[in-house]
Amino acid sequence: MLYHLSLKGNDSHMIGSCDEVDPSSGVPTCSTCGYRTDPDFTNPGFRLRRRRLDLSCCYDGAVIVSDRFRALHASLGGRNLRFVDLPKAPGFYHLTCVTPVALDYAAMGTQCLRLCAGCGRHLDVVGRGTIVLARGASLADHELAFSDRYFGSHNEAIPLLICGERLAKALAEAGVAGIDTCEPVIRQDAVGTVDGLESS
Ligand SMILES: [Zn+2]
Repeated sequence: MLYHLSLKGNDSHMIGSCDEVDPSSGVPTCSTCGYRTDPDFTNPGFRLRRRRLDLSCCYDGAVIVSDRFRALHASLGGRNLRFVDLPKAPGFYHLTCVTPVALDYAAMGTQCLRLCAGCGRHLDVVGRGTIVLARGASLADHELAFSDRYFGSHNEAIPLLICGERLAKALAEAGVAGIDTCEPVIRQDAVGTVDGLESS
């Protein structure tokens, strides 16, 4: 079983607002649409406003984790995450993903709109029902992965966090702070039952 984790907000921005980037962050932007081109960009001057959370999400989608989460993931042998140092937020890291997991966006009802010819990004990736794993996709039970598409508009780019059962259990047992909801992810071969689940 895989789970989707949604995280609490940390009241912080990694690179600026949804509509305007902070030039001092150094994030690269597209000369056509003006929005950021690298959704995993780390601002070395990033400041974390809420430091009680072991996992949290910025307004613009960056995932921030604590030393505690990093140690727990490592203790299970996890290798699918990168922990980028944040000089102004010692003890915390900007999380990025080595190998994202593919989801079935058609089955989820996700719409990718307003393709920018400059950067090749959709400026709106919106909407989702129950999360469905793509056919053939998998994730080890001790791992965490980002979805292979990020959601949101403009400078927002929020990956969905997909978590294996063993890691999800370990996080719950350790009582880490910051997980808002933990919902099961549906496998492709179970898609036929999704409508039934939603209408019941
Ligand atoms: Zn663009």
